[in-house]
Parts: sequence; C-alpha cells; structure tokens
Amino acid sequence: MSYLVLARKYRPRRFADVVGQEVVTRTLQGAIAEGRIGHAYLFSGPRGTGKTTTARIFAKALNCERGPAAEPCGECERCKAADSGAEADLIEIDAASHTGVDDVRELRDQAAYVPLSARYKVFLVDEVHMLSKSAFNALLKTLEEPPAHVKFLFATTELHKLPDTIVSRCQVLKLSALSEERIAGRLDEVFAAEGVAAEPGVSAGLARRARGGMRDALSLADQLLALVGARPALDDLARLSAGVDRAGVGALAHALAERDRPGVLAALGAFEGGEPEVLGALLQYLRSALLAAHCGEESPLFDAAPEQRAELAALARDLGPERLELVLGELLLMRDQMRLLPGEARLILELGLLELARPELTLPLDELARRLEALEARLAGGAPPARSAPAAPRRESAPAAASAPQRPRAPAAAQRP
Ligand SMILES: [Zn+2]
Repeated sequence: MSYLVLARKYRPRRFADVVGQEVVTRTLQGAIAEGRIGHAYLFSGPRGTGKTTTARIFAKALNCERGPAAEPCGECERCKAADSGAEADLIEIDAASHTGVDDVRELRDQAAYVPLSARYKVFLVDEVHMLSKSAFNALLKTLEEPPAHVKFLFATTELHKLPDTIVSRCQVLKLSALSEERIAGRLDEVFAAEGVAAEPGVSAGLARRARGGMRDALSLADQLLALVGARPALDDLARLSAGVDRAGVGALAHALAERDRPGVLAALGAFEGGEPEVLGALLQYLRSALLAAHCGEESPLFDAAPEQRAELAALARDLGPERLELVLGELLLMRDQMRLLPGEARLILELGLLELARPELTLPLDELARRLEALEARLAGGAPPARSAPAAPRRESAPAAASAPQRPRAPAAAQRP
C-alpha cells in the first residue's frame, strides 16, 4: 500500500515545484500572463516526467479564482477542489481504457455544456495516442470548432502515434527526461523532509535507476525505505529489484504465459544487462501474480499500484496458480545457478525461460525435474548427460563442480611467440 506514497505526497502543486521542466512551465505561465491561452495543449514526453502533473497545475491555474494566474493561489475554492481531486470541471479521461468513438462522442457532448462553477471546462486526456482512428476523427471535429469555455489538455508518451491533424491543432509541449543530478537533488530534499538519513550516494544510485523519471525515482525510494527503514545505505540499493523497467517485466511475463518463445527472447533483449536484477524483478512480479491468484486482486499481501493490480490478476488467470508456482520454483533454481556461474547469467536466463515457455510444457512434474537437472548439470560444467538417459541426481556434487576452475582456455595473446 505504501508503493506510491512519496510520489503522491510530493507531487508538485505549483509550477515552481515542477522539477526540470522549466521550458514547459515558463511557456504555460507566459501564455497565462499574456492572455494568449490556446484551446488545446499536447504534453509529450517519457513516462514519469510530469506530463499529467503539469497539465493539472495548468488546469488549476486557468481556473484559479484569482486568475487565470501564472501560479495558482492554492487557497481559493477552485484550487482546493483541484488539489483534492474534486474539481467537477476538470474531466480526466484515460484513453488507454476509453479508446472508442463513443467515449469521444460523450466527451463532445459534455463539452457543449458550460462549466459548473469554474471558468473553463478542462478535459485532460491521458495516453491520447491510444484512441482509435474513428475516435480521433470524432475528436478532430471538436478541436476544429471548440466552444470558448473548453480547454483540451492531452498527454502522450508516443507523440509519433498521433495523427498530424490532431498534433497540428495543439500547442505541443515537450517534457524531457530529467538528469540524474536533478532527480538526486529532489530525492535529497524529500529525504530531508521525511527525516531519512541516507548514506551519501544513495540518492544518486536511485536517480540512476530511475532513468529520467521522477515518479519512478520516488517509487524506488519508497520501496527502499520499506525494505530497510530510515537509514538506507549504498549496499541496500542492491536489494531493489526495480532497476528494471516494470513494463518490460510485464511483457516478459506475458510472453512466458503465452508460451511465445520468440517473444520471451525479444523481451529479454530489451533489458540492458543486470540479469540477476531482471530475474529478481520477474520473481517479484510473478509472486504478486501468485498472491493475486490465491488471495484476490485487492489483497494487501502484495504491493502494487492500482493500475498494476488488474494486470497482475489477468496474468494470474492466464497462467493459473499451479503453473505460477512451478515457474516461480524454477526461477529460484535459476537464481542459484546464476550465483554459481555469474559469467553465464545471460545464458542461464535465456535457457531457463525458453524451457518454461516450451509449448509442450504440460509435462508431468518428474519429467520436468529430470530436464531441469540435466540442464543444471550441463550449466554446472559437468559432462553433458546422454541425450535420452535421465541425468543421475547430482545435486551434492553440482556446487563442487561449479567451483572447480573453468576449463583453461589459452588467451589469444599467449599464443604469440
Ligand atoms: Zn486559486
């Protein structure tokens, strides 16, 4: 439940608090100050960089009773309604779940009515690139002749997927990925405010893992604090599984569920190094799915953002608790193998996941165990087992074999006379 706490608590409420997007905030503030407010704005940029947050602040500034104000006052009734998420004239639509033409028609109908109590009726459409073609066409009609009391704010991570006809009718604002310095600086401020005494370098380490997204950085900080308490050290960073992009882990788990072997390899290829981290993230993800399978989507036994819970529950249905348990068991074995043979981590991951994604993997458990033992023995550097004979149980000897020096291989340089 604590997953998004810091990200929510420290979500900027004024333009001045938005970190690292000065070009965008100045453009919006300038437009308000000079009374040149367009009717449609498109916020584009990587995930977690503040698109919807900035759009919400803009909506609040437009409707502030002491404005339209270059900075919302935060005290009037409209500002308070906006801050508590209760502004009836700010209509937020997630295009990822409302892609259809009917949704846009409904929006168009709503746009015809004057605002209830605010100056403008503001529509904030998130992930707008997800709209269907017919939905875009319906939207275009409204964008061509918008009522004077309506403002459209769109947000997207994929500007290139939007039709030119839409983009050309909007003022496009590009938010950029944040530098590690900016993120680390903000984390230091948040830690100070929270009374957290982090070892020097922890903020920088978190910033590096967040890859330019402030929201991810705060979520990681949350995770870290939940793991180790208020004095996180550099060593603790290794315990975070999420140097790995969560969407990537979802794609990997999905390919596994579909027994889509090329998909598994493609999803793996999208990660940069860090096999133990990928494996750790996959373990954590599938464990959550397992808990969702047994205890329900809303179970407090696992941490997940609300939008991830539905995704995990769907995965749990696809895989079923039995296969999930099997897969998790195998992943744990793979983790052991990686510790024994860190140099072969990539191969262990690829082979292990391909095995789990085998189309005929409705194998009886003992056959599966045999195959895995054979695989283990092969990876542990033992003699390759005969193809059809079951590998003899050699669990005791496997670690010894693995710690034996690898077969000497003369480096190329040594062969020079
Ligand atoms: Zn106000």
